[in-house]
Amino acid sequence: MNLKELAEQISARFLEQGVKVPASEIEQRLHSLFYDFKVPIEEATRSVVSYYSKLHPKQESASATEVSYTKITDISAEDKWINLRARVVQLWEPNSPSIAQVGLLGDETGTIKFTSWSNANLPILKDGQSYSVRNVVTKSWQGRFSVSLNKASEIVPLDEEVAVGRAEEEIAGAIIDVQSGSGLIKRCPECSRVVVKGYCAEHGKVSGVYDLRIKGVLDNGEVVTDVLFNRELTERLTGITLAQAKEMAMEALDQNVVADAMKAVIIGRYYVVRGNKTPRWLLITDFKEPAQIKEEDIGTILERAQELL
Ligand SMILES: [Zn+2]
Repeated sequence: MNLKELAEQISARFLEQGVKVPASEIEQRLHSLFYDFKVPIEEATRSVVSYYSKLHPKQESASATEVSYTKITDISAEDKWINLRARVVQLWEPNSPSIAQVGLLGDETGTIKFTSWSNANLPILKDGQSYSVRNVVTKSWQGRFSVSLNKASEIVPLDEEVAVGRAEEEIAGAIIDVQSGSGLIKRCPECSRVVVKGYCAEHGKVSGVYDLRIKGVLDNGEVVTDVLFNRELTERLTGITLAQAKEMAMEALDQNVVADAMKAVIIGRYYVVRGNKTPRWLLITDFKEPAQIKEEDIGTILERAQELL
C-alpha cells in the first residue's frame, strides 16, 4: 500500500466536493495512524476522511462519514479496531494516573468496560451521555472483553440516546405457579396498560385490545423468579394462539378459562429460559425445553410446589 497515492486520492475526493486538503497533510495523518498506532489502513482512511469531513461540515457527504458500528455482544476477539455507538452507564475511580477514565459503555446488546488512557488526551466522557466512539481497540482479560480508548480514537457526542440492554440471564427450572393477570388480557389502545373491568388507570373507560401473557413463577431449586412471557412466547409456550384464546373465552363467556388451560399445560414443566432482569421480573426473550433436571433439585422443587397448593 502506497500511502502517498492513497492520500492523493483522498485529497482529490475532497477537492471534488470543493474542499482543499493538502495531500501531504493527509499522508502525514495516515502515516501516523498506520505506523504509530497500527490502525488497519481501511480504518485509518475512514478516520482521516471523517476528520476532514468534520472540519468542513458543509461539504460533508454521506458516503464520506459512513461508519460501521460494532454491537457490543458481537465483540469476539481482542486487538480489533472497532467503532461503537454507546452510552456511558457507569464511571469508576481510575486506580492509576495513566488512566484518565474507566467505566462501562452500553448499547442495545450489552455493556463493556472501557479504559481511556491519559496520554490519549481524549474528551472526558459524561455519565449518561451517548457517544459515537470510533477507533477503539478491543482487549481481553480473564475471558472478558473491554475496549481501550487511545490517541487514534475519536469521540463525538450523539444527540439521540442509545438504549442500553442489560446482559441476558439464563435460568433452568420448573414453572410452579401462574399468577393472576395471566392468559387472555385486554390492553389500553393508548398506553398498553392492562385494562381492568373496561377501565385503564390512565385513560378511563376504553375499548381494550386483546393480548396474551404469562406471569409465571420459575423455581430452579434455590430461588424462585417471577418470569414474564409476552404474547408470542406465551403462544409458543402453551400452544394456544391469541385467536384460539378469544374463541375459548367467547364460548365459555369467561376470560379465565384461558389462564386455566394454560396452567394445565405449563405448571410443573421444566424450562430453560433467557431474559432481561428488571427489579421484579425476568422479561423472557427465549426459552427451550425439555432440559436435564438436576437430581438434587427435584426434591426441593416438589416441596416448594406443594407449599403453594
Ligand atoms: Zn391507557
